[in-house]
Amino acid sequence: MASVTLEKVQKSYGSVHVLHEVDLEIADGEFVVLVGPSGCGKSTLLRMIAGLEEVSGGEIRIGERLVNDVAPKDRDIAMVFQSYALYPHMDVSSNMGFSLILKKADKSAIESRVGAAAKRLGLNGFLSRLPRQLSGGQRQRVAMGRAIVRDPKVFLFDEPLSNLDAKLRVHMRTEIKALHQQLRTTSVYVTHDQIEAMTMADRIVVMHDGVVQQVGPPLDLYDRPANLFVAGFIGSPGMNFLQSTVAKGGKADAVLADGQKLRLPDGLPLKDGDQVIVGLRPEHIKLTDHGSLDAEVEVVEPLGLSTQFYVKLAGQQVCVFVMGRTNMRPGDIIRLSADPASLHVFDPSSGNRIG
Ligand code: ADP
Ligand code: MG
Repeated sequence: MASVTLEKVQKSYGSVHVLHEVDLEIADGEFVVLVGPSGCGKSTLLRMIAGLEEVSGGEIRIGERLVNDVAPKDRDIAMVFQSYALYPHMDVSSNMGFSLILKKADKSAIESRVGAAAKRLGLNGFLSRLPRQLSGGQRQRVAMGRAIVRDPKVFLFDEPLSNLDAKLRVHMRTEIKALHQQLRTTSVYVTHDQIEAMTMADRIVVMHDGVVQQVGPPLDLYDRPANLFVAGFIGSPGMNFLQSTVAKGGKADAVLADGQKLRLPDGLPLKDGDQVIVGLRPEHIKLTDHGSLDAEVEVVEPLGLSTQFYVKLAGQQVCVFVMGRTNMRPGDIIRLSADPASLHVFDPSSGNRIG
């Protein structure tokens, strides 16, 4: 096992910069998830760690060793791809043991390593099948088995679950997390799915347009997003954003587009007339008769365990999440409130969090 250190890592293709000075320290044994929308540079960064893309600037270390110019096969990493990348003419056993076969390892050693990995992944009964005789989920397990058999210092995963159906994805992400808890191998996992990131990561790296936006444990990002991008990206249903103007009497209020007011948290560096964007998580909006906000119900989505509904507030559609069931109907006028401490306040020009 090993740490992975990125220092001012850059990537450009000609004059196009796709990664801007990425700094990241991944601890030995940590499970780090790179998450962001398609095209933000996740795969490029992962492939640079793997040695499959040249580094345009900066340094990459695996453990103490600078690997910028080390060939992929000499980096002691194993990569799992979305496409599985199995050899179609080889059975499961040979696919899983391929790295050891190449190294001319002892036949019984190969058998025992492949057997142990197959057992761990529930593939015992499938060792002599060809990839085309397996389901998608089984193929992905074989690809993971091949990585495990190598016993690498670092696992690199590039959207390994994207080709699976929704139910299997949920199942496999739990399996991968459980596997990491047993093996404790340093892992870097790429996904565009923030729920996968939240559920699997020790720490999440949120990326946007080739720039790291924020790094931290899942709930830190959820509770204190550093900017509007992270605030909007992490969380489902997503955070609501309300454009407003600061009015300071004794305490600061946010005045919404229609004149309704929301009390802001204490102690923020704000002055009268400042424009701010107030971020409000759906579950932090409370339905109470003595709430200070009026809103009209537009759409009700009963989910059984909980109810999500959309209201018109200050001319904008706002999502509200409550546990349990409601008898609310479209057209109802309801009163809402929000605890000032649960609000997020952002500077609309920089997009950064205030306070
Ligand atoms: P992600 O994995 O986050 O979806 P990628 O790392 O694949 O994103 O791509 C990041 C950006 O780099 C994209 O805008 C993509 O078009 C660009 N890119 C990737 N590979 C090349 C290449 N070989 N030449 C030019 N641009 C590339
Ligand atoms: Mg990608």
